[in-house]
Amino acid sequence: MSTFRFKALKETLNRTPIDFKENGKHSENFGINVFSENTMRQYLTKEAFKGVMSSMEHGTKIERKIADQVASSMKDWALSKGVTHYTHWFQPLTGGTAEKHDAFFEPIGGGNAVERFGGDALVQQEPDASSFPSGGIRNTFEARGYTAWDPTSPAFIYGTTLCIPTIFVAYTGEALDNKTPLLRALQAVDKHATAVAKYFDKNVRKVNASLGVEQEYFLIDKALVISRPDLLMTGRTLLGHGSAKGQQLDDHYFGSIPQRALNFMRELESECMKLGIPAKTRHNEVAPNQFELAPIYEEANLAVDHNSLMMDIMGKIASNHNLRVLLHEKPFAGINGSGKHNNWSLTTDTGVNLLGPGKTPMRNLQFLTFFINTIKAIREYEELMRAGVASASNDHRLGANEAPPAIISVFIGAQLTKVLNELEKVTDGKLSPQEKTDLKLNVVGKIPEILLDNTDRNRTSPFAFTGNKFEFRAVGSIANSAKPMTILNTIMAKTLKDFKIEVDKLIKEKDLKKDEAIFNVLREYIKQSKDILFEGNGYSAEWEEEAVKRGLSNNKTTPSAIKPIVSKKTIDLYKEMEVLSEVELRARHEIQLDEYSLRIQIEGRVLGDIAMNHIIPTAVNYQNKLIKNVRGLKDLFGKEFETIAKEQLDLIKKISEHISGITTKTNAMVEERKKANIMEDPEEKANAYCDNIRPYFDKIRYHCDKLELMVDDELWPLTKYREMLFTR
Ligand code: ADP
Ligand code: MG
Repeated sequence: MSTFRFKALKETLNRTPIDFKENGKHSENFGINVFSENTMRQYLTKEAFKGVMSSMEHGTKIERKIADQVASSMKDWALSKGVTHYTHWFQPLTGGTAEKHDAFFEPIGGGNAVERFGGDALVQQEPDASSFPSGGIRNTFEARGYTAWDPTSPAFIYGTTLCIPTIFVAYTGEALDNKTPLLRALQAVDKHATAVAKYFDKNVRKVNASLGVEQEYFLIDKALVISRPDLLMTGRTLLGHGSAKGQQLDDHYFGSIPQRALNFMRELESECMKLGIPAKTRHNEVAPNQFELAPIYEEANLAVDHNSLMMDIMGKIASNHNLRVLLHEKPFAGINGSGKHNNWSLTTDTGVNLLGPGKTPMRNLQFLTFFINTIKAIREYEELMRAGVASASNDHRLGANEAPPAIISVFIGAQLTKVLNELEKVTDGKLSPQEKTDLKLNVVGKIPEILLDNTDRNRTSPFAFTGNKFEFRAVGSIANSAKPMTILNTIMAKTLKDFKIEVDKLIKEKDLKKDEAIFNVLREYIKQSKDILFEGNGYSAEWEEEAVKRGLSNNKTTPSAIKPIVSKKTIDLYKEMEVLSEVELRARHEIQLDEYSLRIQIEGRVLGDIAMNHIIPTAVNYQNKLIKNVRGLKDLFGKEFETIAKEQLDLIKKISEHISGITTKTNAMVEERKKANIMEDPEEKANAYCDNIRPYFDKIRYHCDKLELMVDDELWPLTKYREMLFTR
């Protein structure tokens, strides 16, 4: 057997699970490494505490004096926990997180030193950020970038470093990260949702977006991953014949968790607890070696930070267990990929979930208002929602016969469909007393408080209502949720803003009562947006045809899917909601195009290398064995050999055909890459990578996978699917 593959398998089989022992109860450890409200109360002066809280709640600026006090207390707290360094922790447009550690230590002359951390260092830093993607913003403005403290997400200790969540912006003000636009979008949705919520309760002062992120991932032994150059370089297998047994038997989903995976999860959850990440649910997913971790939902900005942090921790903890976490959306062909379901709702500071039905007709009218406005927002901006989850890796899920489709639709279940049908019949203008009573008693009043058990679950829907929240399932497993959450909250803010204008207009000009006006506008919204509602099978060919008729987009690949980021509609929307400027949007579009081209380029190179330098030599090697065998048969049997060696001769020919297939296609792919690489326009280049280069991947893979079935297993150099998926 090929030595590298053999060694990796042996190493994997020889592992003993590395046990993990929790240190105390989760409830006792929860948040111990977070500079939380409680810790702040302990460490801060009253004045400083008030300053930070007010900044958290109202976004007010923190005075210099207060910042100094906070920094000093943070340092004391961190030092008491053995911390030596601090870092501004941010989310550049690479999608991951970034950190640059500085020691508290400072020499003060005379051979002495102290630990120092002042307000300056807390509030603002200037990382040498020239290597982060900026889409030309920094070049254009010759601006340096700086990071600035986000007090709404608490500082935390990871290892021996104090991490301070920050935004990352250019000196000219343009955002260079994923957090800044998210914060702006959350502000916008707060403003406009609060205004609408006041129709129902005057006491509402603030609306928070909530987010619960279900994170799917694969866990594979470290040695097996390292034995596959494609997994190592691109995060996914570029070739490999499917394993005879995959997920057909549904025997992994919710099955008993394998010991090594469980040990990993326990350590991971334990770390999450200390960092205040409320890790709640763990289970096996559908594909072999695929799992899910779902924390309890939190305020959206915090939830995004926690998810980003969690992804980082996952990698570190996995290596303690000789495992690798695969966060790629599609590491293995032929079995399920991974997503990151974004469960989203809006909650008032009075404790009401605006997307949850309640006990009274008024509460339910409020629920319907926010529910229908969400549907309207998705209908109006479905293309932008699709754009927000586009990436080279997520293209393998969306629009590729895999959960969910590239067409954005909304699933609401039979019960609420009926309610919307009733509301659509509401009279234009003033309602008769009879109709009002009827609506109250029979339509709005009939929505049960708990819809959870009544909503049928449609797993094929990209955007499903699940009882008291919407669940956006098209988000990729490796993505930063800030992007889709920025879009969702921005389109919601805009829709609610317009809704309020229309309702107020009807009240004023048509002399309608408030609830009459609301019913009237909701009726129109249902009419305008009901063609985004779809309850059927989202994977079916019929739905693709139907969606075209309804005028819904079906952008299957990233370059086409991200075009709407720079459409006039988006530019106007983001300007009005003050989320991103045109310059910022164009920069982001360009960064995404570049990233797409680079990722496909890397995949093309790796595939070419494996095909030419691993697969072909192996095939030739085996073919030589066959030739020797045939020669031997000829010596033995003389004339008769042709019948006796028929199968071997066929095989020799077939191997040659596949070798030739690999060679011609790889060469053709390289030629296309050469053409693409000299293109200057990022969009033209991304299109070339998408349309002219990427299609070769499957063609080359086809021949390699055929050879895998022909060549002696002993000689095959690459760890096989069955080995990666079932060796534990
Ligand atoms: P599933 O979709 O797998 O049935 P759950 O109903 O348990 O999952 O919820 C999945 C995620 O949704 C969890 O993170 C959970 O905390 C979150 N969630 C529950 N209620 C809300 C809500 N009102 N707003 C946002 N997220 C929520
Ligand atoms: Mg879910």
